[in-house]
Amino acid sequence: MRNRFDHRTRVLLLTVSVLMPLLSSACGTGRHADPAAIVLDGERPGHLRRAALQRVVDGRPSPERTEALRAAVADPAFHLADHRLALFELIAEDERAAEALAAAIVVTLPACAWADELCAVAAARGWMAMRGPIVRRIASAEPADGSSAARQALVALSPGASLREALIDILGEAGEPAPVRVDAWVLLVRLAGRDEAKRWLLHASPDDGMLGALHRAATELGILPATRDEIIWVASLLRDHGEMWRRWANLVSTLDKQQQEGLALRHLRAIEIGCDPGARSDLLAAVRRDLARAEHHVSASHVESAGVLTIDAAHGLDTLPWGELVMLRVLQTALHDPVVVRSLLAQAEADRLDETSEHGGLLDHHTMTGAGSFQAVAFPPQPGRARSDVSYQVSTDMIERGYTALAQYHFHAQRRDNRAAAGPGPGDLRYAARSGAACLVFTSVGRGRLNADYYARLSDGRVCIVDMGVIER
Ligand SMILES: [Zn+2]
Repeated sequence: MRNRFDHRTRVLLLTVSVLMPLLSSACGTGRHADPAAIVLDGERPGHLRRAALQRVVDGRPSPERTEALRAAVADPAFHLADHRLALFELIAEDERAAEALAAAIVVTLPACAWADELCAVAAARGWMAMRGPIVRRIASAEPADGSSAARQALVALSPGASLREALIDILGEAGEPAPVRVDAWVLLVRLAGRDEAKRWLLHASPDDGMLGALHRAATELGILPATRDEIIWVASLLRDHGEMWRRWANLVSTLDKQQQEGLALRHLRAIEIGCDPGARSDLLAAVRRDLARAEHHVSASHVESAGVLTIDAAHGLDTLPWGELVMLRVLQTALHDPVVVRSLLAQAEADRLDETSEHGGLLDHHTMTGAGSFQAVAFPPQPGRARSDVSYQVSTDMIERGYTALAQYHFHAQRRDNRAAAGPGPGDLRYAARSGAACLVFTSVGRGRLNADYYARLSDGRVCIVDMGVIER
C-alpha cells in the first residue's frame, strides 16, 4: 500500500512539476509582463489591456508609460473612464503634450461621449490648440453641426459672446491654418446664413489670400461658396482660368438682381452656353413643357428623404433660381443632341460590360451650333482605383476639368433594365452636396435607352433631383 501511495505521490509531484512552468507563464501575462506593452498591444483582449492600464498609471514615469497613456487616450478599445484616467495622467506629466494629443485626435473621433468630454476639457483648461480642430470637427459632422459640447467649447475658447463671433475671429486670423479657416467659413455660411456671411465678407479685408478669393467670387461672380470643395473650385478658377473668370464676370455684370439671386458656380457655364435665355416666365414654360412630355423613372424613395427636393413639371420648378432654370434648359438641349446621345449610349454599354466599376465623364459644349454642338467626354475608371461595380470614383483630372464644364455624369448601367436603381443614390447625393457641381446620372432602362436625372445642391443646403426623362437613339 505504502509503495502504491508513494507511486501516486510521485505521479502527482511529477504532474505539478510539469505544469508549474505553464501556470507561472500564464500568470506572467497578467501580472509580471510589462503592463505598458500590454496596453499598446492591439491584438490583446480589451479587458486585459484595460486591467494593465491601471498598473501603468501606478507605475513610475518612463517613455513607455507615456506611450501607453497616449494609446489609452485615443484607442476606442478603452472605456470612457480609462480615456479620462489616462488623459489626466498625461496632463500631470506635460499639459502641452496632452493638449497637442487631444487636438490631433478630436478631428477624427466619431461622435461619442469621449469626444464631447475632450471638448469640455479643452474649454475648461483654455486649450487654444484645440480651437481649430474643434472647428474642423463641427464642420465635418454628419448630418448636424456637431455636438453642443463642441460648439460650447469653441465659444469658450474665443473672445466674443457667440459662435458666429468665434468663427469670425478665426476667419480674421491669417495665421490660422488654411483648412481651419476654410471650415470656419463653411460653418459661418451654414450657421449665420448666406446673407450675414456675405455682409461680413464684403467688409472684411480683401488683401488676405483666402478671404480675397471669396471676396472676388462674391463681388465679381455673384457667388458665395458654401463648401470646402467650392472654395477649392474658386481658387482653381483664379489660378488656372483667368480668361474664363473674366468672361464669367462680364456675363454676371449684365444680369439683373433677380437673375443673380441664388447664383451658384455651376450655373456660370450654363448661362454662358444658354446665351440669351429670355424672360424667366418663358424659360420656366420651356423647361416645364419638356419635363411634362418626358417619360420618368426616378426612384420614389427619394421623395420622402430629408434634405432632398424632388422636382417635376408640376412641383417645385417655380421655386428654383433663374440660374438653375437656365441649367435645366441647356441640359435639355444637350440631351437632345444626337451626337451626345450616341456617345452616352456607347459609354453606358461599356459600363455594363465592365464589372469592376461604374463609368462617367463630363458634358460640355462647343462653339458651333446644331448636332454635335455638345459633347459627352468619357473619363474611364482609373486602373487600380475602381472600388466596385456600383460606384464611380471621380478622378482629380475630371474634377479639375469639370470646373469649367457644363456637368458631370455617371452611369447606373450594371444591367440593361436597371430601373430599380434609377436616380442618384445616397452617395451621389452627398457628392452633389459637397461639390456644388451639376450632376447627371444615366440609368439604363432597356436596350439603347437611358433615363437621365439631374441633381445639385440648392442654396438652402437641400439637393434637388429632376428626372429629365429618357434619351434613346
Ligand atoms: Zn450613382
